[in-house]
Amino acid sequence: MAAALETQAIIIGAGMSGLLAAIRMKQAGVDFAVLEKSLEVGGTWLDNCYPGSGCDVPSHLYSYSFAGNPHWSRLFARQPEILDYFRDQANRFQLRPHLCLGVEVASADWDEASARWTVTSTDGNRWRAPALIVATGQLNRPRTPDLPGRESFAGAQIHTARWHADTSIAGKRVGVIGTGASAIQIVPEIAGEAAHLTVFQRSPHWIIPRMDAPIPPAMKRLFATIPLLRKAFRALIWRRLEATHPAIAAPGGAKAREMEKMALDYLAATIPDPDLRQALTPDFPIGCKRTLVSDDYYPALVRDNVTLETRAIERIEPAGVRLTDGSLIELDTIVWATGFETHGFVAPIAINGPNGSLAQAWENGASAYRGTTIAGFPNLFLLYGPNTNLGHNSIIFMVERQMEYALPAILKVARGEARRIVVKPDAHEAYNRTLQARLATTSWAAGCGSWYKTDDGVMPNNWAGNTAEFARMMKRFDTEAYEIA
Ligand SMILES: Cc1cc2nc3c(=O)[nH]c(=O)nc-3n(C[C@H](O)[C@H](O)[C@H](O)COP(=O)(O)OP(=O)(O)OC[C@H]3O[C@@H](n4cnc5c(N)ncnc54)[C@H](O)[C@@H]3O)c2cc1C
Repeated sequence: MAAALETQAIIIGAGMSGLLAAIRMKQAGVDFAVLEKSLEVGGTWLDNCYPGSGCDVPSHLYSYSFAGNPHWSRLFARQPEILDYFRDQANRFQLRPHLCLGVEVASADWDEASARWTVTSTDGNRWRAPALIVATGQLNRPRTPDLPGRESFAGAQIHTARWHADTSIAGKRVGVIGTGASAIQIVPEIAGEAAHLTVFQRSPHWIIPRMDAPIPPAMKRLFATIPLLRKAFRALIWRRLEATHPAIAAPGGAKAREMEKMALDYLAATIPDPDLRQALTPDFPIGCKRTLVSDDYYPALVRDNVTLETRAIERIEPAGVRLTDGSLIELDTIVWATGFETHGFVAPIAINGPNGSLAQAWENGASAYRGTTIAGFPNLFLLYGPNTNLGHNSIIFMVERQMEYALPAILKVARGEARRIVVKPDAHEAYNRTLQARLATTSWAAGCGSWYKTDDGVMPNNWAGNTAEFARMMKRFDTEAYEIA
């Protein structure tokens, strides 16, 4: 077996989070390697290139705070522009020499004697470092429901997160399965191209207007010449999104009622047919599933060549989708807009700490201390880890706070100033007990199924508070919660 490549820090993943970690390592003068299974950086924004893919937090906020972009073409940029942005950051911060692309990590093993992680790729190469940063995302592994007969379908089938340009849509009978965040973006884009489009809905989502628009050239020029103006715009967006958090924290409260009214007014204004409107009216409180933003999904559903199908799916057959009432919807193409495996986090990487595997530690569900460190796993740092996802604001804001929090500890072990930093089990447990108790009072617990919850009702993905509270908590690396040797 070839000798392991020695470095000071290993970062797994080159999406938004991994690139942020890489920028901070570069700035600190630490030697590091970024291991990325894809052939380019960008993570989510490389993978999700389906028609209409874009962010649902305005781009002036959905970007790094230290790398503002005055040139965003629209309020909500589309995937190609977002991907370009992250590629630009990799170039601008000279990260390319550190990137090992096309390297899928299989395992990470802690060696107590040397206080080092050894990371092994699926093709047997190894890297060794005292600090390990895992930035593999929460939404990286596409989920396709296990409907009987799926493989028997005679036409084309594709998941939105594995889109390719030659997918057959033009003039075809297309079925989109799912009505979540990706579905509502792709449906309006392909509706005009398909001969007929059937949208299979299990339950409707709350949708509020996105209010997207191109950013006028004069405004872009102002943003470029007066950075303070751009920053003020960013701060304004952040504030406005933050102001919606009470709809999550207090289900049934004033903010929730205000947002439900906004969504129902928008539904009434765009869907004239009362039966269709009824089919699109959610039967759970707003915020329980992710509240979606769109200006063009409802208008697409009233097209002559689009049908919203609310009858349940029984199975997939060679000719199309068989419903539970026995009818068959004949299709040429199935688009799975069914989201991701969201509860495994770093899985399927086998992470083996001094006392056992992460799979064992997470047997009853993933958890971390402040979303970032895990009891029993020294010198291991997660970005966008358990309970750092949001329903109302930018994930980049959250990951920047995580990075600020963990950086002093990462640098200490990377530079050999500390041998081993690990969160105390009681700190880990107490943090998660309190967090889950708070999550149980939010709109996410308010009686709907969603990717935010496990079958046991545990919520491993989301942060309970607003982002200002997270920022306060992450201001300082609280050494008292850690064993430092
Ligand atoms: C379609 C979509 C739209 C979104 N829109 C928004 C939005 O508008 N606002 C918002 O705040 N958030 C949004 N998010 C959530 C979040 O901001 C993104 O998922 C973001 O890209 C997370 O960055 P990340 O680097 O943590 O994870 P990812 O972008 O998922 O990157 C993880 C990287 O790790 C790599 N990787 C995984 N496993 C391995 C392995 N074993 N070995 C090597 N490499 C590995 C992957 O290939 C990938 O490049 C969106 C998510 C999706 C899916």
